[in-house]
Amino acid sequence: MPNLYDSLRAGFPADRSKPFASELDGAVTTYADVEARSARLANRLGELGVRPGDRVAVQTPKSVDMLMLYLACLRAGAVFLPLNTAYTAGELDYFMRDASPALFVCAPDAVGTIAPLAKAAGVARVETMGVGGAGTLIEGARGCAEDFATLAMEDDDLAAILYTSGTTGRSKGAMLSHGNLASNCFNLCDYWHFTADDVLLHALPIFHTHGLFVATNIVLSSGAQMIFLPAFDAAQVLAALPRATAMMGVPTFYIRLLKEPAFTRDLVAHMRLFISGSAPLSADIHREFSQLTGHAILERYGMTETNMNTSNPYDGDRIAGTVGHPLPGVSIRIADPETGRVLPQGEIGVIEIQGPNVFKGYWRMPEKTAEEFRDGYFISGDLGLIDARGYVSIVGRAKDLIISGGYNIYPAEVETAIDELPQVRESAVIGVPHPDMGEGVVAVVVPMEPGFADGAAITAALADRLARFKMPRRVVFVHELPKNGMGKVQKTVLREQLGDSFK
Ligand code: ATP
Ligand code: MG
Repeated sequence: MPNLYDSLRAGFPADRSKPFASELDGAVTTYADVEARSARLANRLGELGVRPGDRVAVQTPKSVDMLMLYLACLRAGAVFLPLNTAYTAGELDYFMRDASPALFVCAPDAVGTIAPLAKAAGVARVETMGVGGAGTLIEGARGCAEDFATLAMEDDDLAAILYTSGTTGRSKGAMLSHGNLASNCFNLCDYWHFTADDVLLHALPIFHTHGLFVATNIVLSSGAQMIFLPAFDAAQVLAALPRATAMMGVPTFYIRLLKEPAFTRDLVAHMRLFISGSAPLSADIHREFSQLTGHAILERYGMTETNMNTSNPYDGDRIAGTVGHPLPGVSIRIADPETGRVLPQGEIGVIEIQGPNVFKGYWRMPEKTAEEFRDGYFISGDLGLIDARGYVSIVGRAKDLIISGGYNIYPAEVETAIDELPQVRESAVIGVPHPDMGEGVVAVVVPMEPGFADGAAITAALADRLARFKMPRRVVFVHELPKNGMGKVQKTVLREQLGDSFK
């Protein structure tokens, strides 16, 4: 297999004047620009002393230039290492020391903080990149040649290190190879029927696998185009939807759109596909969305470490509350979390994954890597089951499993029951220490109407839906759930806040 860039490039449109990305200010990046700008940056990386295998860490606002830098790294054989824009100085210090990049690229207004940190962490070089072509990196690249001989790569050569979202603990650097990313991209293009006629609405962050690899690689390799928004803003998304054919989002995007009176069936009648992932999409939101729009959201399941693993079908039934079937070439099994014994169909256990999509291991954590693999399968840490039709459902993370009075309680099951109540918009269910039960179930609920706070009404309504041992012993009402940048509920935060519930 060649360099991932060359694989993607094989799908670029013959007419290179076709737009790849259009932005709100009217800026258009054509496929000719993609080639020229990534070449200039690849040449500039060489001038800055970046060698094949070196890490290029990037913490900058979302921009097309950042995507060009990603491609430049691929072409030059460097390892692209994007960082969440929300990371603070303390966190960056950890990432710099952990990743020891040859170059750190930050926003122009952050250089005052970053430069001293980088120096202390032994990072040789800091450059800046803003939006609209600002920053030393883009300025420096301006004079560079628009040709670059893309380096040949092996399948196993590293393309990127992506840190996990840090939902369950400290983020780990997942090493992803050219082969990992290429196989997943081509798989998904086929599965989701992407073609050069598609226009993807891109409102996701690009420091994460969803917005970076899934969205960007698919668009490039199918010669499609994207409407590139700086972030999710309901008004901007509503304005852009009429020009789009497909949208990728996290569940929060869909929850927010459903609150907009201007989000109507007519507005999206022309759309081909709505995709959701990165966090569970409640069956309720799925139904509300199809009732309103006539579109069944296609939910898929992936992780930083594995790219995408499963997807609901394009043509068949997209079943709410499931993440669909394993993608072609991806093997999924359900194992007993303790013993590793492979469980029969229908039983709940830990989801294990094998395939060309699965990463090379955690950066500089060989022991952790070894622990997370069992005979060639990656142990995802997610609990789930496979039904008789082969659909995978996720019931929560192994770390979030609640054990109360000796019974296993899967938070997702309780959340689904709660979310179905008309008074409830969203919920999160956690276990916290309980003197008699080991753990007690606490439901954190975002009500449909702001003033609603009747816990007894919630538990009464659940009485005929949930076995007694699964019933929340405490219901807490909140305005919103704590979520990280990817829209994932941070249960560790809730467990800390509510840890004293039964003391
Ligand atoms: P960390 O590993 O650092 O705790 P994280 O697991 O949230 O963070 P990511 O790699 O961004 O980091 O997320 C992958 C996880 O997201 C999966 O393991 C799974 O728990 C969850 N996830 C992704 N897609 C779905 C989905 N469709 N339904 C339910 N959960 C999902
Ligand atoms: Mg994880």
